[in-house]
Amino acid sequence: MMPSRRQFLTATAALGALGAMPLVRAAPLLPPASVSGKAGRVLIVGGGWGGLAAARHLRQEAPQLEVELLERLPAFWSCPRSNHWLVGEADGAALRFDYRQVASRLGYTFLQAEVTGVDRDRRQVLTGQGPLEYDWLVLAPGIRHDYSAWFGDDREAIAQARSRYAPAYTAGPEFAEVQRRLADFKGGDLLITVPPYPYRCPPAPFERAVLLARWFQARQIPGRILLVDANPPNPGYAKVFNEFFRGRIHYVANSPVRRIDLEARRLVAAAGEFTFDSAMLLPPQQAGELAALAGLTGPDDDGKASGWAQVTGPSLQSRADERIFVIGDAVGAVSPLFGHYPKSGHVANRMGRIVAKEIAARAAGKTAEPALPDNLCYVTVNPEPLDVLLMDTQYKFRSDGVIVQTLRQYRDPDLAADELAWHGALMAEMQGLGA
Ligand SMILES: Cc1cc2nc3c(=O)[nH]c(=O)nc-3n(C[C@H](O)[C@H](O)[C@H](O)COP(=O)(O)OP(=O)(O)OC[C@H]3O[C@@H](n4cnc5c(N)ncnc54)[C@H](O)[C@@H]3O)c2cc1C
Repeated sequence: MMPSRRQFLTATAALGALGAMPLVRAAPLLPPASVSGKAGRVLIVGGGWGGLAAARHLRQEAPQLEVELLERLPAFWSCPRSNHWLVGEADGAALRFDYRQVASRLGYTFLQAEVTGVDRDRRQVLTGQGPLEYDWLVLAPGIRHDYSAWFGDDREAIAQARSRYAPAYTAGPEFAEVQRRLADFKGGDLLITVPPYPYRCPPAPFERAVLLARWFQARQIPGRILLVDANPPNPGYAKVFNEFFRGRIHYVANSPVRRIDLEARRLVAAAGEFTFDSAMLLPPQQAGELAALAGLTGPDDDGKASGWAQVTGPSLQSRADERIFVIGDAVGAVSPLFGHYPKSGHVANRMGRIVAKEIAARAAGKTAEPALPDNLCYVTVNPEPLDVLLMDTQYKFRSDGVIVQTLRQYRDPDLAADELAWHGALMAEMQGLGA
């Protein structure tokens, strides 16, 4: 059952109590009549891979619409390539850019703001700087780490896990902190937990493990990676760990976390008990909190609780509200055959393009042609000898409308150059550089 408007406004108030930006009920920034009076106004919340693609493509598809991007951070930070950056193998400048410059280049408005809720009845997004009205809302809030799955309502433990053992898995200053922690790491066991599916970029913790193990080797740091995976084994990586990283990476699969004692630095998981010297703790994931605050999450088609946003078919329209589209990692299951789309920057980008076309068509009183994303995912399987995997996923409709997925995989060291080109092209697209 969808929460009522009252329930999600209550949730908004609760967020305020937990220390988020206070909700200031200032006068609406636009009088209600002007929202639909002109051609229309689209608000996009979340300036990550999905939100930036939506903003850019909306300007192209529907230049008459007013587009405003709301994001809590002042600058974009790319998670793709960040594993390489953490070990000094990628240029940080190629992973970042300033939102304001991009917005003015592409002709949309950027507002740095924490969005604290959505009043769907009034079609308003609530921010610390007052409410903003929309005709269409695109939510691209990414993921949230669900520490409560481990620590319940123990806020002290959650705060400690976040600050001492941050996983560097969402954009922001956390990446620099984790890089500093690594620079100080003198040896011992570094624990990385792999959350249960679905989660953002499933190969990323494995790629990080091989890059870190290689980095330890190169710097003669007597360190070992403990990779505790909640899921069935990843056979490709398990083979590489065994052949090239014996004694450097200790991998246990089918081992969800049961308990963590942060003071004693001890983890109890299904496969046993582990102590650690440092850690990148990745708890289970859900859609970014805004999806729940807006009342857009709910049980999946099997009736099981889901922390992911429910959307309808290929349009990515929220099942709870025809004026709202959800894109990127926050999206829940889309097909009974494979469940979720891969939670990747590539898919988020394609979703941004899809909703831009949807909204442009609706603003013109038309219906958009149904479109589906594709996914390209490059991962380093072994840094030495270099071994890179490309997963190429395509989607199409079955005759009954169900979305079908096909995956092809390629393995070749030369794919490392393709990965750089892929990343550069999408970074340029988001910034409105080049074609
Ligand atoms: C280590 C690592 C490696 C990866 N490698 C790849 C790769 O090689 N290829 C690939 O395709 N994908 C990769 N990914 C996955 C990719 O980063 C994500 O799938 C992608 O970022 C999802 O885009 P999104 O727009 O849904 O979310 P995000 O990019 O996370 O953007 C969400 C944005 O919303 C903002 N936000 C959230 N809530 C609010 C709020 N209430 N108010 C204001 N702002 C808010 C956040 O600050 C953030 O900027 C990788 C991820 C990681 C962690």
